[in-house]
Amino acid sequence: MSGGVVYLVGAGPGDPGLMTRRSLELIASADAILYDRLVPAGALEGARADAELRYVGKEPGAPAVGQQEINRQLVELGRGGKRVVRLKGGDPFVFGRGGEEAEALAEAGVRFEVVPGVTAGLAAPAYAGIPVTHRDVASAVAFVTGHEDRDKPESAVDWNALGRFPGTLVLYMGVRNLGMAAERLTAAGRDPGEATAVVERGTDPGQRVVTGTLSDIAARAEEAEVRPPAVTVIGRVAELRDTIAWLKRRPLHGQVVAVTRARAQASGLAARLRDLGAEVVEAPAIRIERRAVDLPRPESYELICFTSPNGVRLYFEALDRDARALAGVTVAAIGPGTASELTRHGIRSDVVAERFVAEGLLDALGGLNLRGRRALVARAAEARDALPEGLRERGTEVDVVALYDTVAEPLDHAAREGLARATYVTFTSSSTVRFLLESGGRVPESARIASIGPVTSATAREHGLPVHVEAERHDVEGLIQALTDDAAARRVAPA
Ligand code: SAH
Repeated sequence: MSGGVVYLVGAGPGDPGLMTRRSLELIASADAILYDRLVPAGALEGARADAELRYVGKEPGAPAVGQQEINRQLVELGRGGKRVVRLKGGDPFVFGRGGEEAEALAEAGVRFEVVPGVTAGLAAPAYAGIPVTHRDVASAVAFVTGHEDRDKPESAVDWNALGRFPGTLVLYMGVRNLGMAAERLTAAGRDPGEATAVVERGTDPGQRVVTGTLSDIAARAEEAEVRPPAVTVIGRVAELRDTIAWLKRRPLHGQVVAVTRARAQASGLAARLRDLGAEVVEAPAIRIERRAVDLPRPESYELICFTSPNGVRLYFEALDRDARALAGVTVAAIGPGTASELTRHGIRSDVVAERFVAEGLLDALGGLNLRGRRALVARAAEARDALPEGLRERGTEVDVVALYDTVAEPLDHAAREGLARATYVTFTSSSTVRFLLESGGRVPESARIASIGPVTSATAREHGLPVHVEAERHDVEGLIQALTDDAAARRVAPA
């Protein structure tokens, strides 16, 4: 037998955070990945650059790759010695035809492994605040699939038996046949007044929940225009949602927050926003481009000023020595983000400007006698000159080293679309404002604009953008604080 292995992997219900560690490891090492439509956004981001990615899902209106053909491809790749990931939504063995694929592989003598995933029938109710079992309410749960195929009305589902099932029912099916299912269940003895909830796009930022009773849920779902994928939970546990629904209590629930900073820097901010319940739209307006520089020896200065985390990072890249090179130098930083990037390089700043602007650093340096001393300002090429000028006014001999350029990043289609839906647009520097507008980014009228500090706010206003929220602390944490405060104030405010 060859060295090929096929992994039948569950990718979970949609929230990337619910992918298992094992699934991520396998995606990262696979030669080939065959994936479905319902895999989480970004699930394939960790794949090798040279991995072969094959889409084998069904697309409405397009010919689907048949199950036989998928089985054949899996066998062929496995026999060819490949490391293959067959990535499926939810769990591979819950209504995912993973069983058939495993059988085909076993029959062909291809080695395979199964990696369970979080199934939609558990995750979507959980995100809707519905425990599928509960000590006082339901001690059994049944997962049911209904045929959505109109041509096959004779489904394999025994609705009669399910009508008498003593516990929660979770239906994996669209709402088209929900009326039929409800009728059959009530005819078989289920209480028409039983609590029922439909969860659309469970665990996704766009999750929606429609609640009702078994008798009216079909009409309510239709009225709400529920679309697949959706699961329906039938049982008294659905009543607990009123108490348990936790998702909508998150501070930024329902907010669509656009992040305009450089993609490389966006992840920290984006992750924190998601944690707080926001849907994050990445619309990077800028990119950091390093310059080739001949860094002057740090020993020739008494003071080195860093004005941004990027500046710190690129300075140490260019320096090609460690923190000891700055042993005798006074180190000054604008803003806590810059200071914390310095600690990452083993340097505790001697002076940190509390205000995230050049003037703030000049104030903070006020106590030092800088006359006749030499200072280096390490920064972006197109920065304001307030800091070097202010230092020169105090009699300091100043060199400036431009470590990088901030350049425009063209907005792609997804970024434009996301921006159009944003309820908050965040700006973390003047350049994000300028370049977003220059590349044709449109900030919706209804969106609230959040700025990291006064300089950025001023640039926004100069460009005709109102600033609704300004961070008091001029870093990511401060911006997030300001956003959540604003969202909370607006939530309780009278309409
Ligand atoms: N193997 C998958 C199920 C595949 S069948 C799993 O374990 O979750 C496809 C059905 O799953 C859809 O029709 C829908 O009923 C349900 N489903 C999948 N993802 C869902 C989601 N994010 N929210 C609600 N239902 C979902």
